[in-house]
This record gives sequence, structure tokens and C-alpha cells, in this order.
Amino acid sequence: MTSRAVSFWLNPQELCFRSEQALPDRADVVVIGGGITGMSTAYWLSHLGLTPVVLERGELACGATGRNGGHFVFGTNQSFRDSLEDHGLADTLALWNFTEQSAQLLRELTDQHNIDCDLRFNRLASFAITPAQAQAVQESCELMMSHGLAAEYWDRERVEQNTQCSSFLAAAIEPHHAQLWPAKLVVGLAKAAQHLHAHIQTRVEVQAVTRQAEGFTITTNQGQIQAEAVVYATNALTYHLLPTLKGVIVPVRGQVIATAPTAQLFDFDWGVNSGYEYAIQRQDGRIIFGGMRWKSPTKEIDIEDDSRLEPLVSEGLKTFLRNTFPPLRDVAIEYEWTGIMGFTADENPIVGELPGRPGEYISAGYTGHGMPVAIAAGRAIAERIAGSAQTIIPKPFRPERFWLG
Ligand SMILES: Cc1cc2nc3c(=O)[nH]c(=O)nc-3n(C[C@H](O)[C@H](O)[C@H](O)COP(=O)(O)OP(=O)(O)OC[C@H]3O[C@@H](n4cnc5c(N)ncnc54)[C@H](O)[C@@H]3O)c2cc1C
Repeated sequence: MTSRAVSFWLNPQELCFRSEQALPDRADVVVIGGGITGMSTAYWLSHLGLTPVVLERGELACGATGRNGGHFVFGTNQSFRDSLEDHGLADTLALWNFTEQSAQLLRELTDQHNIDCDLRFNRLASFAITPAQAQAVQESCELMMSHGLAAEYWDRERVEQNTQCSSFLAAAIEPHHAQLWPAKLVVGLAKAAQHLHAHIQTRVEVQAVTRQAEGFTITTNQGQIQAEAVVYATNALTYHLLPTLKGVIVPVRGQVIATAPTAQLFDFDWGVNSGYEYAIQRQDGRIIFGGMRWKSPTKEIDIEDDSRLEPLVSEGLKTFLRNTFPPLRDVAIEYEWTGIMGFTADENPIVGELPGRPGEYISAGYTGHGMPVAIAAGRAIAERIAGSAQTIIPKPFRPERFWLG
């Protein structure tokens, strides 16, 4: 079957959402962006009694959230060892704790609001394909265990028994991980927020945010709206509205394929090559596999066009999957798509109020790992706007470290 440049997650028959039609004149808070960050923030704002207006230039989840790999990875974005080196133990554990809070909130929200997003808690296997990676995997496992975090080391033989493949030299197994249908989560959160009186409007592009003596004027392609606070949930594209973030959050294009449903091969989700490649097998048997951007001469850095596929990456993804796992030799690829991630230099997102700009908040720059951060980050931001700050934002996420004014 020919592959289509369409995300499996964005099938319109699966995602049914009714946008508001008319832009209101004012709002307590305008949230710009209708991905996981925007919708989490809007949900928590509504939950705290505020009335947010969410403005999304396309459809809900049309950005990275509807085009990702479906992983919810617990823990630090850097390797555990690198995070310890850069931030020390207390802040590294705070980052872990933040993703665990997100997971707990995800469980509660999906239960409470009956959000069916194929959420499945699972193990994560991180495979090594070079001796250096095998050593790093082993060291990382030992370090995690020595700090009370659950992890298991598999040697080559054990990996082969569990994967039917002889390409991997070792693996770290982490018992806490999840997979989900990200766009269904976003639509579910949007409906829950609407129920709590959030106003959510798609096909409205924000063109400028202007600070006034009191509050902000948000200029859109459909008119203006006044707001007391504004949240930038615009991830890789944030610099278009906040030029000072150009080069701080860098757009990087990722590419993903989805196979036809196939016999169950993995009872864990996995990453390989230090996480550059990543896969889940869904309960319907479909394998979602992404990565290989290093096959492109540009490494897909500074690319914002998510309507096109990169052929070299495409070839790399298909060849790796078919050649690495003998049972997948003839597997059909039914979907293929790209999406734009927002990368920061230290791999951590920017979460909080912008220094020297009261009333302007951001959560963006997740460097390819937004799912486990955005839910707790949305709550942390909503609490601050509502005048409380119960959810602690880990120090490595704070905007001050990059903010140029
Ligand atoms: C190929 C790929 C694979 C990935 N795999 C994973 C994974 O497996 N696990 C994981 O945790 N993370 C993964 N990520 C990263 C993850 O998808 C993101 O970190 C997360 O979705 C960010 O969510 P967001 O809501 O902040 O941004 P987005 O989902 O990008 O949403 C931002 C929204 O803002 C809108 N917008 C932008 N500018 C404006 C404007 N001016 N006016 C109105 N609307 C605007 C956009 O249209 C967009 O919908 C991957 C990303 C990609 C691209």
C-alpha cells in the first residue's frame, strides 16, 4: 500500500470537536495554541474557575501533538547521567517527579472525564546498538537503581530472547512508561474544558500580542480580543510571536511511519540509538516508528514545513524496521507524516511566567518529549494565573535561564 503524508493520529473520523464560532471581546486569559499544552492549560484554568479563550490557527492537535510518536516517557529528557552532571541530584529527581505528577494527572483526567485515548501503561526498553551505547545503558541503569529509581539491565542474550532480533547489544528496561493516542487526549480535554465554560476556537491565527496599561490586546485574523493574561502554548513556532525566542526554541522536523496492524511482537515500548529512534506497538497491532532524522543532511533542523516527507528519512525508517526485525520483513507501511518539535540547547522546556513581562506565560521547547511535561506544566501555569502556586516548576525548566528580555 502507498504511504500517505497524513498522521495516523489525525483521522477526522476519530476526532470530533465543535469549535466556537465568534470571537469574544474579552477573556480572563487567552491561550494561544490547541495542542496538549494549550488544552491542558485551558482545562486547569477552567477547573480553577477562570474563563480561558483558546485560539488555534488550525484544528486541535494539528501541530506536534497530533504528529508525534505516542510515547509518554517518564523521567529526564537528557540521559539520567547527563542530567545528574548538569543539574545535580535534587533537580534531576524534581524533573522525574514532575513527569510522575503528569502521569498521575493523566490517569485521573482520563478516568474522570471518560477520555478514551488508548492509554496503556507499559514498560520502556532502551536498546543499544554500539558498544559505547551498551556501556552508557548499563551505567544509566546502575545510577538510576542507586538513586531508588526502578530499572533493569538486559544483556545481549536477554534482548534477543525478548525481541527475536540479534541487532541489539544491551537494553535498559524502565517499568514506568505509557503510550496513548495524543490527539484523542487533546479533544477529550477540550470537551472537558468546554464543559467548564472554556471557549475554544479553531482556525483563528494570533498575529500579535500587545501589552496595554492593563492587560493585553490579542490581534488575530478574525479581530481583536482583550485579555488579562496570555499563555504561549505555541511550541516550536513561539518565536513568531516572541522574536526574542528565535534561536532559543529551534524548530526541528521529525518523521514517523505507521505499519498495518501486525501480529503482536513487543510487549513493551522501545527506543534505540540513544532515543533517536522510537516505537510503540498499539493494541491493534500497528507499530508507530519514528526518528532517523540524522539521515537528512540538515538533520531536519530549522525546518517548519510539516506538509512534506523527507525521502532519506523515509527510506531509513522503513529499512530499519524491516531489516532489524525478521517478522516485519514484508510489513506494509500505511501512514507516514512529519511534525515540528521545539528544541532548546539544554533539552529542557521553558515553563513559567516570562521574566519582566507580568501576565505572559509560556510552556514550550520540550525537545521532543512534551507529552509527560505538558499536563503538569499546564496546571502549574493555570495555578499561577489564578494566584496560587502549588505545583512546583523544576528549576531546570525556568525561563530565566534563557530569557533575553
Ligand atoms: C515527529 C514527532 C515525534 C514526537 N514524538 C514524541 C513522543 O513520542 N513523546 C513525546 O512526549 N513527545 C513527542 N514529540 C514532541 C511532542 O509532540 C511535543 O512536545 C508536544 O506535542 C508539544 O505540545 P504543544 O501543545 O506544546 O505544541 P503543539 O502540539 O505543536 O501545539 C502548538 C499549537 O499552536 C498552534 N499555533 C502556533 N502559532 C499559533 C498562532 N500564532 N495562532 C494560533 N495558533 C498557533 C499550532 O497550530 C499548534 O497546534 C514528538 C514530536 C514530533 C514532531
